[in-house]
Amino acid sequence: MVINFAAGPAKLPEEVLRDVQKNLLDCNGSGISVMEMSHRSSNYAKIQETAIADLRALLNIPSNYKVLLMQGGGTGQFAAVAFNLIGRSGSADYVITGSWSSKAAKEAAQYGKVNAVLPKVSKYVEVPRQSTWQTDPKASYIYYCDNETVEGVEFDFVPVPPTGVPLVCDMSSNFLSRPIDVTKFGVIFAGAQKNIGPAGTTVIIVRDDLIGQHLKTTPSILNFELMDKNSSLLNTPPTFGIYVMGLVFQWIKRNGGIEGMAERSRAKSQLIYNIIDQSNGFYYCPVERNVRSRMNVPFRIGSATGNDALEKEFLAKAEAEGMIQLKGHRSVGGIRASLYNAITLPETQQLAKLMLAFYENNK
Ligand code: PMP
Repeated sequence: MVINFAAGPAKLPEEVLRDVQKNLLDCNGSGISVMEMSHRSSNYAKIQETAIADLRALLNIPSNYKVLLMQGGGTGQFAAVAFNLIGRSGSADYVITGSWSSKAAKEAAQYGKVNAVLPKVSKYVEVPRQSTWQTDPKASYIYYCDNETVEGVEFDFVPVPPTGVPLVCDMSSNFLSRPIDVTKFGVIFAGAQKNIGPAGTTVIIVRDDLIGQHLKTTPSILNFELMDKNSSLLNTPPTFGIYVMGLVFQWIKRNGGIEGMAERSRAKSQLIYNIIDQSNGFYYCPVERNVRSRMNVPFRIGSATGNDALEKEFLAKAEAEGMIQLKGHRSVGGIRASLYNAITLPETQQLAKLMLAFYENNK
């Protein structure tokens, strides 16, 4: 048996994959696969509309927010957010707490002025409290990444923007893992390949008054207004991905909803962090405790900078036991265990067991 701790594309619930398999050649009695279905057909319309309705119910999305399904992943949204919003005043505030918010800021800087609200740091291991932020009350929006997938830094609060400044959030790697109050946000976006489904689909939740303020040069497929007017069917959408995403939403509904996911996430991540904290420094996580990610747990073995031989041995042992894709991101090294919604508690316990045994043998 294989347990996939990948950071994304990541594990999908087995039940969902079995459902996909069962219906692969004949989707909902149509006689054809969903991949062969016209995106303009009534059969497909039902799939997309149900997925969006289920997402709205799961997150309690108010009626003045639109749900858009787009392509281009999180990276596409780095550009889309700027194209659609930065023209409001010409500048935007970016809270840079890791690799992904840093990339987003660089992308946006091509289309307007970007103001970094935090001083530059050499390592991303914290989220400075909001009282220290240098925000601009005239910013078109204030942008942050709720969970930095590479460094394992997750916000423990929702920022409060200056009056009239919309809050834009990249939730690609912790979407649907804890309840959120959508009304606090102007835009939320999330690429699918971690908590939602296969790579290729991006979910955007946008407050309706923010639609229609795009730069004139905005490419049509990144344009929130055009996407909204066309019910996310401006061009051919990633139909298969949207179908699987809909099945994942139903799986979440059957498994306690967002609260259920939050409870699982808490239990799984605590199990691993407890082992790290009780290992007398054998395992080391550089991230400040209050912002340690529940989704991506990065750690070093042997010392704070990692012992190369021990880390290689740990990865080999894990692989021999079927636990794969535990290698840390190339920019930070070490180990990274990603514990997205589809990872079960027993699977996390397998990893915990290995960590404890490895500690006993090498401490
Ligand atoms: N934001 C976050 C938080 C991510 O983790 C990633 C991808 N790992 C991205 C954005 C970029 O997503 P994509 O590869 O879909 O462009």
